[in-house]
Amino acid sequence: MNCDEFVELVTAFLDGALDPATEDRFVEHLALCEGCERYLEQFRTTIAELGELPPESLSPAVRTDLLDAFRDWHRS
Ligand SMILES: [Zn+2]
Repeated sequence: MNCDEFVELVTAFLDGALDPATEDRFVEHLALCEGCERYLEQFRTTIAELGELPPESLSPAVRTDLLDAFRDWHRS
């Protein structure tokens, strides 16, 4: 798994929606990549600050904005 894949799968991971094989690869990348570890932590913090809403209750537009914002942050 690379960082782009990781970012794409973050919301599914937080939803518990990954299949076991994909989740293994996700966690494996998490253990190896400090940037993605920080990204996941930041993502969780932001979700909590939004009022502990699970990601699936965000509107698609908000989800896209969040993902775009974090993607930019991750690459900077
Ligand atoms: Zn990474």
